[in-house]
Amino acid sequence: MDLVRQAGLYIHIPFCQSKCHYCSFFSFVPGVGQRQKFIAALQAQIEQAATLTEVAPLSFATLFFGGGTPSLLAPTVLAELLGLCRQLFSWSSQVPEISIEVNPGTIDASGLATLRQAGFNRLSIGIQSLNDAELVRLGRIHSREQALSTIKTAREVGFDNISCDLMYGLPLQSPASWRTTLAALLALQPEHLSLYELTLEKGTPFGESLQGGSGQIPEEEAVLEMMEDTQRLTAQAGLERYEISNYACPGRQCQHNCNYWHNGEYLGLGPGAVSGLAGQRLVAVTDLEAYVHRVRQGESVWIEQEQLESEAAFRETVVMGLRMTTGVSVSRLHARFGIDLVPYYGDTLRQLIRQDLLSLQGDRLFLTPSGLPLANRVMAELV
Ligand code: SF4
Repeated sequence: MDLVRQAGLYIHIPFCQSKCHYCSFFSFVPGVGQRQKFIAALQAQIEQAATLTEVAPLSFATLFFGGGTPSLLAPTVLAELLGLCRQLFSWSSQVPEISIEVNPGTIDASGLATLRQAGFNRLSIGIQSLNDAELVRLGRIHSREQALSTIKTAREVGFDNISCDLMYGLPLQSPASWRTTLAALLALQPEHLSLYELTLEKGTPFGESLQGGSGQIPEEEAVLEMMEDTQRLTAQAGLERYEISNYACPGRQCQHNCNYWHNGEYLGLGPGAVSGLAGQRLVAVTDLEAYVHRVRQGESVWIEQEQLESEAAFRETVVMGLRMTTGVSVSRLHARFGIDLVPYYGDTLRQLIRQDLLSLQGDRLFLTPSGLPLANRVMAELV
């Protein structure tokens, strides 16, 4: 019999009220009747997944409803989906971390209360900015006031583990504006922050209109100033940077995402969801109609299945682990893959250490403060 293996469970809700101008995630505005079809198919997929031989040895430590905008579904439906997952899968603790992403303007006080009562115990709120002009430019559907009131209401209904997403390096954003947004958010004492620099993705309105220098994207110097302000303000507020873009109060790191960065196992349900099980990467069909059809027929929704060979999995684990400020453990990597990191990377590693981008102290290899802003360059050499 297989040993029980700990894993994360992810549920993808692919709907958004409108598409933000920078977003390349798999999400779309639902058409007539699509929500009902999706909910029925997702329920059926949860039931089917619970019987899969790949899933039988797994014990789930975390559950994450992401998207898209999960809060576009009725809170009672989300509560039922959570109940189904809790009932049908094995859990490694009585009170696992159960997160849900919500967007201001899509959920009210009674909806938040329903989610809390149903057992969601971590809320991830997509704020992005607290400047109304910036929010309009991003194509967000909410205002500063709505964002602030969502956080306050979440507290009132009993959420004591709140994460907020913000973005910097936005079109026409000044360092002063970023400081104002960040300080106003920190004043509400969120337990966790995800702070991302805007990237211009192909196929998005921003990717098309701002690529190649429109003069709207802040200069590198201004972005560096924003990064420095971020370090200072988050540290003053008692939040510790534990991953390239993530900051948390002690003990409030996102356990679900830490599992990804440790390259642990995870099951993703819903269209477009990715799973990583027993060294295999599995990708579900993104087309909603095809997803619904396959689930109804009892067919697999996975359209891509890739078995990573051990060396590739080792390199992936190193690169993912270096995203965390504590980095990777050389001995644990050796125990897991039978590969000795230092001789394996040889001169490449020595060079990165000499350039003060990586540091090897005792058993741990991690990005230095000067390596963190250049993480992509470092990882490109190790992947
Ligand atoms: S709400 Fe989130 S997932 Fe939806 S379009 Fe905006 S950024 Fe993308």
